[in-house]
Amino acid sequence: MDFLSEIDNCSERLRKPEKMAPNVTEENGVLFESDAATPDLALARTPVEQADDSPRVYVWRNIILFAYLHLAAIYGGYLFLFSAKWQTDVFAYFLYVASGLGITAGAHRLWAHKSYKAKWPLRLILTTFNTIAFQDSAIDWARDHRMHHKYSETDADPHNATRGFFFSHIGWLLVRKHPELKRKGKGLDLSDLYSDPILRFQKKYYMILMPLACFVLPTVIPVYMWKETWSNAFFVAALFRYTFILNVTWLVNSAAHKWGDKPYDKSIKPSENMSVSLFAFGEGFHNYHHTFPWDYKTAELGNHRLNFTTKFINFFAKIGWAYDMKTVSEEIVQQRVKRTGDGSHHLWGWGDKDHAQEEINAAIRINPKDD
Ligand SMILES: [Zn+2]
Ligand SMILES: [Zn+2]
Repeated sequence: MDFLSEIDNCSERLRKPEKMAPNVTEENGVLFESDAATPDLALARTPVEQADDSPRVYVWRNIILFAYLHLAAIYGGYLFLFSAKWQTDVFAYFLYVASGLGITAGAHRLWAHKSYKAKWPLRLILTTFNTIAFQDSAIDWARDHRMHHKYSETDADPHNATRGFFFSHIGWLLVRKHPELKRKGKGLDLSDLYSDPILRFQKKYYMILMPLACFVLPTVIPVYMWKETWSNAFFVAALFRYTFILNVTWLVNSAAHKWGDKPYDKSIKPSENMSVSLFAFGEGFHNYHHTFPWDYKTAELGNHRLNFTTKFINFFAKIGWAYDMKTVSEEIVQQRVKRTGDGSHHLWGWGDKDHAQEEINAAIRINPKDD
């Protein structure tokens, strides 16, 4: 795909950052904790929204491919409901969860944000899952995502939400990258990603590994294992599942940058969006996430039922494969909520730590039982 080759060219130049680009210090969001300049971990200045009106250069090959993909996915969705064997549906669901985690626990929380560390067996699992997801190699994904945080809502943000819902959802993949993105991208340090041999291997052989993991095996396995038809296997387990998780991921960039409360920082677009969290395994607590991006939970509370990725990481922490998870203290969160929040900071549910005793006493409860 065009965006792949373009990304490739770009990353070659990014591999060894030359001198810092002139405007590289114009950050518009914290990326790592070391970027924070205030005691409550914000930038020294309030972030801005910026987008110039430079003309869009369409990448027609991507437009045609994504149009086909979405039509095929609608057909796949129909087959999922009315034609495929139940084993194929379960398999497609498993691939959705696995590829989702390859993005959320892998490319996002582990590689882009370094919010925890993982031993090689977990990195291998996550790289495999990530390859099923086909959202470019984890190194390229993490690079784009670091730009998204550091230069959030400016022309150097790959899916600048200031350009509207469609652009931040899919439109950014249908046009040439903004020159600002390439220019400022030169200053980004990716040495930690390139020092991982598993990630280097994935990137080097991506054009062999990705088609196998995302399309070929998901089609062949149902046919040979439970005698599914070729058409059901291809349209359901490959195309429908792939397009579904793509759109779920994009919703974090579009819907979660548009709709929802901003209890942590009202000066930015990212918002707390529960529906996105449900489908994206905990990535919809986006106002919190852009406020404190190095928190491995990407949310204030960890084991929330809408945060499956955190549960996944916590499970691997128990067996020692995930460790050194970073989070943010309650005091700092409170300080930040008071200073920059929109006043919507609310309880997560019954009996949470902030739930005042008077409120608990005053609530009407039907068939109450405390256990
Ligand atoms: Zn975002
Ligand atoms: Zn992020």
